[in-house]
Amino acid sequence: MPRSSFVGGNWKCNGTCNSVSSLTQSLSTTTSNIVGAEVVVAPSTLHLPFVFKNIRGPIQVCAQNISSTGSGAFTGEISAEMLHDFGIRWVILGHSERRKFYHESDELIGEKVRYALLKKLSVIACVGESLEERKNDETTNVVTRQLKAISDNVSDWSRVVIAYEPVWAIGTGEVATPEQAQTVHETLREWISKEVSSSVAEDVRIIYGGSVKPGNSKLLFEKADIDGFLVGGASLKAEDFAAIIKSTL
Ligand code: PGA
Repeated sequence: MPRSSFVGGNWKCNGTCNSVSSLTQSLSTTTSNIVGAEVVVAPSTLHLPFVFKNIRGPIQVCAQNISSTGSGAFTGEISAEMLHDFGIRWVILGHSERRKFYHESDELIGEKVRYALLKKLSVIACVGESLEERKNDETTNVVTRQLKAISDNVSDWSRVVIAYEPVWAIGTGEVATPEQAQTVHETLREWISKEVSSSVAEDVRIIYGGSVKPGNSKLLFEKADIDGFLVGGASLKAEDFAAIIKSTL
């Protein structure tokens, strides 16, 4: 069975009541006739309930983070249990902004992946190298190290999507070439085939993120191991996001 495409919109720490309301409305319209791709959007935690209640069509709603420890005395955190209780079924984990600005280690991300899956959430788990690491020829080492920390904690691969997001391409306008992205996606899939199983490697969606736009998504998607996208900036514009989804159909 061919893998169905997967497109996530990562809204990051953006939005006001008004802008989130109008984006939710426009997305409901622009994506209403989309069939064949799995689509999620990830608003900020504060906007999650609004988007969850008001979005229409084929779009699922995703959180941007969870606590690794569940509900309890953890001030400021949101637990997997809370999301699940609310009806939310997806979470992004291991995003490079969380690794960089909030010092999330491979180990912590692994714990979050384990806990999310235990509590019946599905996970978009991110990996990606910095520009310096790429220049030092460390890309394969970095992404496979990050992937191992994730993989060691996966109890159900059918609820995991891997996102390859080179840090140097995120929010910079500098997209990886289709060949650069394909090389890393292939490496990740080969690693999964060897370390997990060939059937998991065959089935798991590996999506690309980093300056994806309607103008570059089609060529990226043509590559054999690119199964969709995690979109930041362009996911804040309903028309652009819909065009990116359509390029995967
Ligand atoms: P970008 O962000 O599309 O704005 O580069 C991608 C991401 O961080 O997920």
